[in-house]
Amino acid sequence: YEKIDIPEKGGDELTNINRTFNMMMEKLEQHYQKQQEFVSNASHELKTPITVIESYAKLLLRRGFDNREVAQESLQAIANESTRMHEMVLQLLELAKNNEHLAIHLEQLELEPFLQKVASQMQQAYHRTFIVDAKFPRFIYSDEKILKQLLFILLDNARKYSEDEVRILTAETTNHACITIQDFGIGIPEEHLPHLFERFYRVTEDRNRKTGGSGLGLAIAHELAEQLGITIDVKSTLGEGTSFTLCIPKEEEQ
Ligand code: ADP
Repeated sequence: YEKIDIPEKGGDELTNINRTFNMMMEKLEQHYQKQQEFVSNASHELKTPITVIESYAKLLLRRGFDNREVAQESLQAIANESTRMHEMVLQLLELAKNNEHLAIHLEQLELEPFLQKVASQMQQAYHRTFIVDAKFPRFIYSDEKILKQLLFILLDNARKYSEDEVRILTAETTNHACITIQDFGIGIPEEHLPHLFERFYRVTEDRNRKTGGSGLGLAIAHELAEQLGITIDVKSTLGEGTSFTLCIPKEEEQ
């Protein structure tokens, strides 16, 4: 688009309209660039598993009929990469959905039973220990489904990047109820902390090959949190562990 030339200063009506127009167009352009970047990142990320699947399928065709070990290895790799791709596509759809407006149903939730339920679902799914210590506050005001989804992302990371128990703690300030997800795992180097919530951001490729992450989980968490007016704070020490804290505004603040 072509920017309209306007004098730096000046307050007549036409100048103001032109200035607003320029601002709107700039915003649109930024938005468009972000979308472009997203599409190109998404295609790039999907290309990797497709390439792996393709090359193992070819290997399987060439040598898999005579060699059981090759067949086993190829099929395993194909199965793993398909699962990874499936997860990534689901996450991309989730992000696309969040770009629209989520329907939010705020309600009063009793915090401790709510967190116990979330923890026991995680425990059953992954056979890991999730400890809840949530005496205060007794109630929060939020959207149960969205908050649960948000917690699942953080808890899933906590168990993926650690081996011991994961703790879910709560605290209360004058204006907020806060939930902390604490793990005692590998931790995150400080220079990565500001980028964690960017789409497709991963701390290092190596660390993630084992866990097969996509770098989309925290971007989704961030968008969900934004919709609920929740802030996310992260603290981490390399080799000692990581804590993500969600602060939920109290009822009268919303
Ligand atoms: P991924 O699917 O790769 O886990 P996320 O967006 O959920 O993507 O997380 C981005 C990156 O942040 C991860 O790849 C990982 O390196 C790092 N990370 C997230 N949570 C933790 C944690 N609890 N402990 C250590 N590293 C973490």
